[in-house]
Amino acid sequence: MADRGAGRFAPSPTGQLHIGNLRTAVLAWLFARSTGRQFVIRVEDLDRVRAGAEAAQLAELAALGLTSDTPVIRQSEQVGRYQRTLDHLLEQGLVYECFCSRRDVAEAASAPHARPGFYPGTCRALPEEERARRRAVRAPALRLRSAVDLWHAEDLLAGRVIGPVDDFVLQRNDGVIAYNLAVVVDDAAQHIDQVVRGDDLLESAPRQSYLASLLGLPEPVYAHVPLAVNREGRRLAKRDGAVTLEDLARLGRAPAEVLGVILSSLDLPAESLEAALAAFEPGRLPRAPWIVDPADLFSTPADPACKPSAPTDKVHP
Ligand code: GLU
Repeated sequence: MADRGAGRFAPSPTGQLHIGNLRTAVLAWLFARSTGRQFVIRVEDLDRVRAGAEAAQLAELAALGLTSDTPVIRQSEQVGRYQRTLDHLLEQGLVYECFCSRRDVAEAASAPHARPGFYPGTCRALPEEERARRRAVRAPALRLRSAVDLWHAEDLLAGRVIGPVDDFVLQRNDGVIAYNLAVVVDDAAQHIDQVVRGDDLLESAPRQSYLASLLGLPEPVYAHVPLAVNREGRRLAKRDGAVTLEDLARLGRAPAEVLGVILSSLDLPAESLEAALAAFEPGRLPRAPWIVDPADLFSTPADPACKPSAPTDKVHP
């Protein structure tokens, strides 16, 4: 697997996937397959999870034909490898304890000379006695002692992205490993060298790329793809209407029809993933957000012969 490399889709199991999330997954599959890579699904369950969401998401992806080439891993089961990476950074003096609350950080960020998006370094140089005193009151978060202000990431759609890198959190003060650390460690461990995801995460790429370089890991190539939005231009959400496979199945829409809508929205042949793959050219993808009006997603009326309950069962076994 190492020589072929891999791309991935890495959902957080907080609920059902909606048609915008599914479109990102389809794109991750197309980018991976069109470059001869494996396609890997990873469950990012370090933070909040909703019971049953993981199984539902995997079933939704499978209903569209998207399955992982390697066993699906859960981040909650990889804590040992995150801890080893943290220890390695600690030994190198690249981690420090931070006692700031969210409010402290927000207040410091609104100070007159604050740099937007940057942790102001309040706890960077606290003497040991002070740290011991604060430790007795509040558990510390761990932050990266970053040596740069900016770093770069290569994005197949946005080009070379240069963005801020501050002393970002590696482990939260409740002990949970931070997203930026987990993603970098897992991508390397899973030989993932192509990261396709929503463009809301574009500004994480320089931080993650920098952390990979600090750890001596390869920096992946990224493709941050446009998100789905509602008619008001806000990020699509379940409350916007029938936007999950389950909702759509209830309206008589089979997964294959939903896949067709997703592929058409990408200006690709709608018959199948394979047909879309044969025509896939990253440079020709629509670059604007995908505006989704649930009332207007399908150009043909639902097939009345299609029993509403059958596809629902298929999506959520
Ligand atoms: N788990 C993240 C999400 O569902 C995606 C992280 C990533 O792709 O790097 O938003």
